[in-house]
Amino acid sequence: TGTDLIHVVERIIRNFKMIHEHFDFHFKYEKKEDYLVQISENHLEQILIIIVDNAIKYSDQITKVDIRLEKDANDAALIIKDYGIGIPEVDLPHIFHRFYRVDKARSREKGGNGLGLAIAKQLVEGYGGTIHASSKVGEGTEITIKLPLYKSGLIKN
Ligand code: ATP
Repeated sequence: TGTDLIHVVERIIRNFKMIHEHFDFHFKYEKKEDYLVQISENHLEQILIIIVDNAIKYSDQITKVDIRLEKDANDAALIIKDYGIGIPEVDLPHIFHRFYRVDKARSREKGGNGLGLAIAKQLVEGYGGTIHASSKVGEGTEITIKLPLYKSGLIKN
């Protein structure tokens, strides 16, 4: 029946809000639309946890995360934006590689081992989706995940 992005995002926000009370989560989508995608709910949840956890981990003064949904004829997009430390342009092409971490010294104190985004990418691509990052140092990072929409029994052409 497809996995409901709204439902899963709301649950993830609720859970993160419990352990990061000072963070603001803004969730935006077109109220009259539905966002059903072809992915297992478990895997979607894993992906979201990785991305939102990074957004929190690499934020500094501005403790805000914006999540919004968009869709076109074939895909839904899930866009997670933070206002944190950002990622230098030279590192951006590598962040989805296993064990890659920006600025080893600074990252080490944050914990982690550079596997999160590689796992997220593998999961997303396993469902025919894509994941992409754009970022500016000192301004923040935006991760865009596209997933194929669930099409109910209709013949696609
Ligand atoms: P973990 O394996 O626990 O997820 P990690 O956060 O180091 O550890 P990834 O999630 O794969 O690993 O991220 C890779 C690197 O990309 C991070 O080390 C960090 O430098 C950078 N990065 C990822 N997300 C963000 C973000 N939202 N803002 C700034 N830098 C980020």
